[in-house]
Amino acid sequence: MAKAMVLQTPGQLTMAEFPERPLRDGEILLRVRMTGVCGTDRHLFLGHGSWAFPIIAGHEIVGEVVEVMDGAADVSIVFGGELRKGQRVALVPSSAPCGRCFYCLNYPHRTTLCHHRTVYGFRRCDEPPHLFGGFAEFVRVQPRSFLFVVPDDLPDERAVLTEPTAVALRAVERALAPGIPVIGEGLGIGRTALVVGAGPIGLLVIAVLKGMGVHRIIAADLSEVRLEMAKALGATETVLVPQEGSGVPESATQKIRDLTDGEGADVVFECAGVPSAFAMALEWACRGATVVEVGHFTDSGSIPLSPHLICRKDLDVRGVWAYPWWQFRDALRFLRTTSLPLETLITHRLALPELPQALSGQLGQAAVKPIIVP
Ligand SMILES: [Zn+2]
Ligand SMILES: [Zn+2]
Repeated sequence: MAKAMVLQTPGQLTMAEFPERPLRDGEILLRVRMTGVCGTDRHLFLGHGSWAFPIIAGHEIVGEVVEVMDGAADVSIVFGGELRKGQRVALVPSSAPCGRCFYCLNYPHRTTLCHHRTVYGFRRCDEPPHLFGGFAEFVRVQPRSFLFVVPDDLPDERAVLTEPTAVALRAVERALAPGIPVIGEGLGIGRTALVVGAGPIGLLVIAVLKGMGVHRIIAADLSEVRLEMAKALGATETVLVPQEGSGVPESATQKIRDLTDGEGADVVFECAGVPSAFAMALEWACRGATVVEVGHFTDSGSIPLSPHLICRKDLDVRGVWAYPWWQFRDALRFLRTTSLPLETLITHRLALPELPQALSGQLGQAAVKPIIVP
């Protein structure tokens, strides 16, 4: 039997046991070593967005190969070595794109826009073989998956950050795209980046910016503890955002102006995932800036905004919808080589039955990245 925490409907999490069934052609069985708890998992639990339940959530998966069926090497793609029993792998949540839909044909480089991909941790689990999420003892890897061998010198505690690091890398790349920036625009040496929200994604964006040599990195958050973490990961300045009202807090605006010649940041990343943070991002960007919206993977509601601000400031506003699979390669390389203390992101190690604590918000602000070790 394989244990899994099943989200039956929002708010209703139960431990279930699934009988072991023989693998089908092309499948790979992974024993989960650890799975990170993401903000998106909490949104799933809270019922934000329109998902088909039941779901075994958990998409930040590091597993160990238990069994590889014939043909698996032909239908799934493995990077960084050959699959053998006991091998540690990071599993890309998204399947390969279908190659035939509107987006695959017209935007092939934007692989996450495909209409027909499936995603581990978000797929309904009432159909066999059920085990499609990381909050479980085992995951049944289906054909059309991407797996990356975890290098031997990369501990699980770093490898489990591969998925959120891929998100951060893609967010930073969106600030560079498309192509070579015009001199003096966007990211680069000597530029100022502002990261709104120092949760796991914001902190990893800060680490990536630091790794890229961005000169000045300002972190803004409601929590002093998180701002301290931001400093340890490369933020050069921090701005405490007061928890007052719903607008853009004047004291924080003033502090950011003081730090940026009175104008705002060249590149702003919205990583808080609350709608009012997007208004802050627009307000705290200088004219001609790039604003990257990476916090809203689920729908957290809306706010009144004046589109005039985007015109008047001549802003580039860019969205981020996950990342292509090759970003896992870059994430693993970054995690392997950076000397930044990324392990500090992991604030809690929990067993599978303790998952409700992590999803319900019971762990509070101090919980940055809880991980589940089934
Ligand atoms: Zn995630
Ligand atoms: Zn497609």
